Amino acid sequence: MKNDLAFLLKALYFSAQKHRHQRRKDTAASPFINHPIEVAHLLWTVGEVSDATTITAAILHDTIEDTDTTCEEISMQFGNEVLGLVLEVSDDKNLPKQERKRKQIVHSPHLSRKAKLIKLADKISNVHDIAFAPPDHWSLQRRIEYLQWAEDVVAGLRGINKNLEKHFDETLAAARQRLNEENKENP
Ligand code: NDP
Ligand code: ZN
Repeated sequence: MKNDLAFLLKALYFSAQKHRHQRRKDTAASPFINHPIEVAHLLWTVGEVSDATTITAAILHDTIEDTDTTCEEISMQFGNEVLGLVLEVSDDKNLPKQERKRKQIVHSPHLSRKAKLIKLADKISNVHDIAFAPPDHWSLQRRIEYLQWAEDVVAGLRGINKNLEKHFDETLAAARQRLNEENKENP
């Protein structure tokens, strides 16, 4: 327990340092670190996931994709299991964006169980934000397309955690309702 807490605090500090200059894409430009913390919190509270490796990897899940963090840094500080999980949920930034999006749909059924849990919580967080704290200047159409893509990725993650899957479904339904309402207000 004491070691798990130390591990988790180390990951929080590492991730906060790596993401320190980044903001989310919402109008308020929220601190980026709020997102990985939310993903870890969803795993713990909704998914009842208490495994330190999964929670730690959730805290670190966007460091390789979105910062200068190297594989060596993660493996030296957090070990190869955490590194493997972070890599499983990271896109290959060398690929064009459309291809990266397509690959997420194709690869999601083949991820490890722990990586699926992280990906599911990540999509819950992002689907919520697309509806309620959306990226600046995104059209309604683009937000609708994002929700459909997220649903397609999550289709490949099902069968591992009923609570998280139900929470995703509820978040997606609320997001679609919100976009419908926005569409009615500003057709
Ligand atoms: P992005 O992948 O560029 O942006 C979405 C990602 O941004 C999320 O998955 C999340 O990733 C992160 N993010 C940061 N802040 C927020 C926030 N407030 N709300 C939600 N997510 C946030 O966008 P798309 O999904 O649209 O993918 C780009 C694709 O869209 C390309 O294929 C491009 O060609 C196409 N495109 C479509 C347009 C359209 O109008 N339909 C216009 C332009 C491009 P994370 O968890 O990693 O932080
Ligand atoms: Zn993320």
